Amino acid sequence: MLDLVIGMSITQLVLFSIVLNILFYGVSIGLYLTLNRCKKGEYIQEIKQEITRRDLILSFVVLLCNAGVFVLGVGLYNYGYIHVLEGSSITVIALQTLGLVIGMDFLMYVFHRLAHIPIFYSLAHLRHHEHNSVNAISLFVLHPLEAIGFGLLFILLLCIYPFDTFSIGLYLLINLIWGTIGHIDKDVFKNTYFERWTRDILCLTLFHNIHHQDPNCNYGFYTLLWDKLFKTYRKV
Ligand SMILES: [Zn+2]
Ligand SMILES: [Zn+2]
Repeated sequence: MLDLVIGMSITQLVLFSIVLNILFYGVSIGLYLTLNRCKKGEYIQEIKQEITRRDLILSFVVLLCNAGVFVLGVGLYNYGYIHVLEGSSITVIALQTLGLVIGMDFLMYVFHRLAHIPIFYSLAHLRHHEHNSVNAISLFVLHPLEAIGFGLLFILLLCIYPFDTFSIGLYLLINLIWGTIGHIDKDVFKNTYFERWTRDILCLTLFHNIHHQDPNCNYGFYTLLWDKLFKTYRKV
């Protein structure tokens, strides 16, 4: 896969990156619809968030920003700023993926707290919080600067340490699934074993829905660790 990507011309790379991000977009919406349908019961938010034309256009712009970050990552690899491994053992891949999740969990928590500083909030993050409730594309309704900022944080980690390509792919999949789970408007994990085992550790659906209702708490993405440590956790 790596050989295929680095062997592409710039046009092929841009097109590949756009197609890849369209696929991510489709997987996220498909997962949202599947989880939303399979769970009977009450919606978390009182008001339904309509999908507007304006939001749809912005979500496509964000998709293109994500594609641009991917192209930048490949460019940095080609110029020797990013090094990656291939063929690592399952243990190494598991540890690296965990490292990426924990590293990004911290960086995104800090980035998210900064995004809530009034000047940055009104400049960029407010756009995401225009969704008081959530819908199938809320994950992609971000100010373009914010989407690029998240991407650059990931690139920063890749510049610091040579991760295996499989760990990188696995992390991106986890990130997509977790981002989608946080933006479902039904508590899909309520009263499940998964919720009982992980509710004191992981950010589940209700956690991020509460952040959309009350922007002064629950800034985390994957784990509750940083919210608990910095006393911004509001229990669900
Ligand atoms: Zn959100
Ligand atoms: Zn926020």
